Amino acid sequence: MTAAADQPTSPVLAEAARRRTFAVISHPDAGKSTLTEALALHAEVIDSAGAVHGKSGRRGVTSDWMEMERKRGISITSAVLEFTYGDAVINLLDTPGHGDFSEDTYRVLAAVDAAVMLLDAAKGLEPQTLKLFDVCRSRGVPVLTFVNKWDRPGREALELLDEVEQRIGLRPMPVTWPVGFAGDLRGLVEVATGDFTRFRRTAGGATRAEAEHVPAERAAAEEGAAWSTAQDELALLTEIGAGFDEKDFLAGTATPVLFGAALSNIGVARLLDALVALAPGPGERDDVDGRPRPLDAPFSGFVFKVQAGMDPSHRDRMAFMRVCSGRFERGMVLTHAATGKPFATKYAQAVFGQQRTTLDEAYPGDIVGLVNAGALRPGDTLHDGPRVEFPPIPSFAPEHFAVVRSADSGKHKQFRRGIDQLDGEGVVQVLRSDLRGDQAPVLAAVGPLQFEVATHRLESEFHAPVTLEPLGYSVARVTDAEGAATLQGQSEVEVFTRRSDGALLAVFAHPWRLESVRRRYPDLRLDAMPAGT
Ligand code: GDP
Repeated sequence: MTAAADQPTSPVLAEAARRRTFAVISHPDAGKSTLTEALALHAEVIDSAGAVHGKSGRRGVTSDWMEMERKRGISITSAVLEFTYGDAVINLLDTPGHGDFSEDTYRVLAAVDAAVMLLDAAKGLEPQTLKLFDVCRSRGVPVLTFVNKWDRPGREALELLDEVEQRIGLRPMPVTWPVGFAGDLRGLVEVATGDFTRFRRTAGGATRAEAEHVPAERAAAEEGAAWSTAQDELALLTEIGAGFDEKDFLAGTATPVLFGAALSNIGVARLLDALVALAPGPGERDDVDGRPRPLDAPFSGFVFKVQAGMDPSHRDRMAFMRVCSGRFERGMVLTHAATGKPFATKYAQAVFGQQRTTLDEAYPGDIVGLVNAGALRPGDTLHDGPRVEFPPIPSFAPEHFAVVRSADSGKHKQFRRGIDQLDGEGVVQVLRSDLRGDQAPVLAAVGPLQFEVATHRLESEFHAPVTLEPLGYSVARVTDAEGAATLQGQSEVEVFTRRSDGALLAVFAHPWRLESVRRRYPDLRLDAMPAGT
């Protein structure tokens, strides 16, 4: 008889089971910041959602570590918001968007167990949502959908569900259903039970929406046509079998859908409940050999992003590590799997935007901020006990390309060192080709912010001022030697070698140029990323 049978749940397993680690994926303006604040409000982290509305008022949630960040008033760093909700410990990882969209935005999705796809009721699926969704799909991250802004005019609920199913092949499974069309929200029905919650909005949405449970007969009498429409729609949903199916959700083929209005705190608590009830807790992560790492194995974690220059007075680096197994205790001396060297964790921190607090312990699903992390790279494993290593985080398809040149002919050495460093850290992808030579490498990024960060660091840290010359490419595919030979010299196409992994990237000026090449050479290898790398 093993000890495990006597004690079915080890403390680590029990702690892990309480964790829900997720990110919100959305297009700018869909309401991610508003939702984040509303979620935190429900967990009573922030006193009043009204107090942090507006970009300028978000200092508590966003971060302004870098000088550049302050100037632009944006958040480069993914803030991590950890809070307890009932028995659950919620880790909400921010996925920066807009101008601060970068490879880090994607890497965050390597560190979560679920994602909330936030849709604007008037707009449905938007480009950035689709990009982020693709990454979730390629990583097998299950997705819940929250249709936001139901307090103002938008599209029809069934039409939105149809769009999700048709465009991204995700079968919608409504958990709640709106009574009243977008712009005239009366309340939400629980699809599974038929329970109706009616809301009364308060001016400005500064406080929680007042919720009232109303029995069906009264709702039918008081809400009239809105009620009967919702009932008809629910009947239709039952007919097509849109009920919740956990297997399909976890397999990434179906998505629970909830409706609400983050600004008015409507449906937000319900979303938290759904996350706790439906979203998976931390699972066993496969190591490089494909062996699942048990949650209660000795400590292990991996770095999903490294942030430089967070403290202007020190050249510090903070690495954000996701715990995969075991109990983390501040002060532990871990092993850095890539080098076999010890890594001391005396200054481990919990990071929430600008605020850092000393962190004493962490469990699978938690995020630990490690300072003095100059040796750590995104994807690196840290562990206790026998060696374990997790697979690298894939590089993602760049969409922005620029030639970088040293602006000071006396600084070539610094320039090269800086480029090597940024490449190693995954700040930007560095591409080369025989045609262009090594004096002027090409930087490639998923968002232009990566160029700004690279330029800023080359100048401030390596004293190597540079010039950037944008290249007019926007699409990249992975090819092979044959592809490279075929495409050599063709117009609006160029082939590069990515320095970090030696992948051959064919880059195209436009999607239609890629299509024309495909038509002409149907057998050429042109794999999409991230799945193709
Ligand atoms: P983000 O860019 O995704 O972080 O979006 P924000 O949270 O900044 O929201 C964009 C705009 O939409 C802001 O003006 C918000 O006040 C507004 N907004 C967010 N959620 C709602 C909502 O539920 N209803 C309405 N009417 N407006 C909302």
